[in-house]
Amino acid sequence: MRSSLERILAPRSVAVVGVSSKQESLSGRLLGNLKSAGFAGGIYPINPRAAVIADLQCYPAIAAAPGPVDLAVIMVPRDAVLAAIDECIAAAVGGVVVITAGFREGGEAGAAVERELLARLRTAGVRMIGPNCMGLINLAPDVRLDTTFSPTPAAPGRVAFASHSGALGVAVLEAAQEVGLGFAQFVSLGNSADVTACDLLELWEDDERVGVVLLYLESLDEPRRFIELASRVSRRKPLVVVKSGRTEAGQRAASSHTGALAAADTAVAALLKQAGAVRVDTLAEMLDVVRAFERCPLPTGPRVAVVTNAGGPAIAATDVIGVHGLGLAELAPATREALRAILPPEASVANPVDMLPSATPENYARAVELTAADAGVDALLTITVRPPLAPPLDVARAIAGVTLAAGKPVLSVFMTGAGFYPAAAALPGMPPVYRFPESAVRALGALRRHAERLTRPAAATVAPARSRALAAATPDADGYLPAAQAFAVLEEIGVPVAPWRVVGGASDLPAAAAAVGYPVVLKAIGARLVHKSDVGGVAVGLRDAGELAAAAAAMSERLATHGVRPDGYLVQRQVMGGREVIVGVARDPAVGPLVMCGLGGVAVEVWKDVAFRVAPFDRREAEAMVDELRGVRLLGAFRGRRPADRAALAAAIEHLGALAAAHPELAECDINPLLVRDDGEGCVAVDARIRVGA
Ligand code: ADP
Ligand code: MG
Repeated sequence: MRSSLERILAPRSVAVVGVSSKQESLSGRLLGNLKSAGFAGGIYPINPRAAVIADLQCYPAIAAAPGPVDLAVIMVPRDAVLAAIDECIAAAVGGVVVITAGFREGGEAGAAVERELLARLRTAGVRMIGPNCMGLINLAPDVRLDTTFSPTPAAPGRVAFASHSGALGVAVLEAAQEVGLGFAQFVSLGNSADVTACDLLELWEDDERVGVVLLYLESLDEPRRFIELASRVSRRKPLVVVKSGRTEAGQRAASSHTGALAAADTAVAALLKQAGAVRVDTLAEMLDVVRAFERCPLPTGPRVAVVTNAGGPAIAATDVIGVHGLGLAELAPATREALRAILPPEASVANPVDMLPSATPENYARAVELTAADAGVDALLTITVRPPLAPPLDVARAIAGVTLAAGKPVLSVFMTGAGFYPAAAALPGMPPVYRFPESAVRALGALRRHAERLTRPAAATVAPARSRALAAATPDADGYLPAAQAFAVLEEIGVPVAPWRVVGGASDLPAAAAAVGYPVVLKAIGARLVHKSDVGGVAVGLRDAGELAAAAAAMSERLATHGVRPDGYLVQRQVMGGREVIVGVARDPAVGPLVMCGLGGVAVEVWKDVAFRVAPFDRREAEAMVDELRGVRLLGAFRGRRPADRAALAAAIEHLGALAAAHPELAECDINPLLVRDDGEGCVAVDARIRVGA
């Protein structure tokens, strides 16, 4: 028995409920598309007041259809949808696509109907796409289904595309036609009340006809499930995601650095990265990248050869090659000699290979063959500025003729008149064509990132780290743990803390200092002391009892001028020579715990040099976070210093992720700073704040 979702996506019969007899109506269009796509199963228009619509026999109700109905497409007005759904359920349809709008997207009244709709379908075990959607397309040769009212039919191909926005989805299908991008399936998700992008990922993962998965998402409906599925899918095929709503305003109030640095989009960005998705920012970039995935093999390395008939655009290309994680290939002497033999003496045979404006189609074909055969080349970029001596389409044809045999990705830039592009895209074997070098290089960068992802081993499972100290903690009214308890939590999960003692009054300081060992740092503690050094509540470099006593006296005077009376003091061993890093936890309401690492200390919010991941994650992911920091070189061998202990730092980050995953009540945590010592010496937390609660 096929699942309800399979019966929706690959139905053997379709009923359209709520068809109008006017051909120019949306339902008329939809019926037209259904017929012209070549759907071979039964098509049953449902309309109690018509006998024949668009040459199709009409039926007064679903129950009157001459055979079982796999898919019911619902187009009746909103207030008639529930009744239509009841009929569908009674007639045992396989599944429904609700095109009708006016549900959750329109306010509370619509939301209530949507909930009711969903409840009835769930009880009956019938799946639904929509409501408020534009239908779906399945171009598999044995299905050929189009239940959209899109004016232009999509071309068949290997891309499976799901979109929250139906209108945008249809517009993308149209734009894709111009650039020769073909689709296996298109699903307009609408409100995603039942079927979500995750359900489709699950199906597309195993569908051999789907070579590339493309998602246009306005929200992430099931973030945890999405991470899991997307991580799996992206190991089998490229997963390209446009997530709109990136600059969504309204940051949540947060008292930690980690919370303040986590913007609205942070969680989604981290999640997509972790899941191995290729995130693109714009629709133009999306088409550029998807075309490259559809038409090119993946590069096995980052080295690009550029073959051009003009110097300027080649420079524009090489300028951005580094930005996208690629590099310029060094051509072997034999390759250069072979190029020399076919090109005029003024041509440049180093990379970029500049064949000059006189380059012929034959020159392009030979140059592509020769550079592709060079073992030092992983990918090729051809650039053609309108050749004076040959029509650009002849150059395109010549390149298309040798591309398949090249066995490496070839991307082609043609800077010429608009009419050229659809014609070139239609040439058999033609590599993806771009108007500008930057877009081609960016698409190649995406191919490379995906290829790299495939070589990375699957993420290890990380056990959540339960902390007894956290479970037993006694937070203050605002949810903050006393300093000693916060430190105890860290020690429990394997993040070392510099030896410390808490004392109530100045008279206990000498014994505490003797216990942790000089030199010590003295810190005032108290509920209202958030950033202690801001009010003079931290004194470092105290070498003996005398200096400690003097520092304590001076500190209580300084604090008094700020109106602060400390609850006590923390005496801590001074850590020498560590590099200051911040590691923290914030919580995204939808996605859950996020772990941050960044270059720390007091200026962390100035530099904003931070990386986020969704917890939990494995050691490699923690290492990748560190590598991602712009200032990562400060942790390397630097000004005569040995490199910092990055392994210890990664371990601390991973442990914090495991803690956050185990404790949903952990709202915020800042370890600032974690002092990372030289390689082999580990890292040590010297300041920690933990808040529990909402
Ligand atoms: P706060 O962040 O509340 O101002 P910290 O405890 O982080 O207070 O101390 C401020 C700074 O003092 C730290 O960023 C670090 O540079 C330094 N510091 C604090 N404790 C130690 C320590 N045990 N060893 C070395 N340096 C320390
Ligand atoms: Mg601090």
